[in-house]
Amino acid sequence: MIAAPLLLDGRPGLEQARAEVSEAVRAFVARHGRAPGIAVLRVGNDPASDRYARQIDRLFRSVGMGARVVVLDESASPDAALGEVRALNADAAVSGILIQFPMPPHLSRDAVVDAVAPEKDVDGVHPLNLGRLLTGRGPTFIPATPLGGIELLRHYGCPMARRYAVVVGRSEIVGKPLALLLLQEQATVTICHSRTPDLARFTREAEILAVAVGRPGLVRGDMVREGAVVLDFGMNVVDGKLVGDVDYESARERAGAITPVPGGTGPMTNATLLRNTLRAAEWLSR
Ligand code: NAP
Repeated sequence: MIAAPLLLDGRPGLEQARAEVSEAVRAFVARHGRAPGIAVLRVGNDPASDRYARQIDRLFRSVGMGARVVVLDESASPDAALGEVRALNADAAVSGILIQFPMPPHLSRDAVVDAVAPEKDVDGVHPLNLGRLLTGRGPTFIPATPLGGIELLRHYGCPMARRYAVVVGRSEIVGKPLALLLLQEQATVTICHSRTPDLARFTREAEILAVAVGRPGLVRGDMVREGAVVLDFGMNVVDGKLVGDVDYESARERAGAITPVPGGTGPMTNATLLRNTLRAAEWLSR
């Protein structure tokens, strides 16, 4: 019989971050007479974005931080969206800004991201912060999802140095920064994407397999190396249920450790956002 894989549960890591950040927020308030706060900006009516924004609002309030969700109408002009970002940049009550995507197609993602003040860019999407991550020249904010994935591996003592890691997905927000972070951890890294021929040839070799694609069940058990550590970043709603990019039931037969969806990488993203926002507040108040 094959032993059950180690479950890489992200919830204890989130609880740890909440406890740590709550205490630091109390100290911050005692020093500065005000709490750090996050602002979430979204445009339009995407239901998943709406749910996530409300979750962030609750989470930040639960640790004593401020939270504000700014929702612009689907038809908001580029000037209106950029104007809102600039207002948040200038607002002393806002320590961190999280922009939610997708945005309506008439708005340029790059223009919106470029408008965020790098010192409030708690999801690390601004090119200055991504450049600092690439060069290793800090201080920087690292995108919350991939950094949360690395923290999860640390939390469970999964070694990264000298391991062969395969990252499936090359977005600026998950795949590419994750590959850079794994490199910093001394892993040897391959990035796969939609034009990679014979994906399984790579995934089957991976000692660490990280998948951030947005296609439910793309990676099946027969694509996983025996004993691999599997990080599933996918968040897909199928028949009203949240599922990952990895077919959990077949992958768990072969993996040595695996994230559940939900409850794996998602909570760790939130843990990182809490810590990044606190850090932003501390930097801004220096
Ligand atoms: P994205 O920007 O759409 O990027 C998807 C990536 O997957 C692209 O690089 C694409 O390749 C690649 N891809 C698409 N089909 C593929 C295939 N058949 N084989 C191999 N690669 C393929 O998505 P994202 O923003 O990175 O998000 C990815 C997933 O993570 C989504 O489910 C999202 O909801 C989830 N997510 C989770 C968290 C969390 O907290 N866990 C946070 C953010 C996002 P090309 O570049 O060639 O198009």
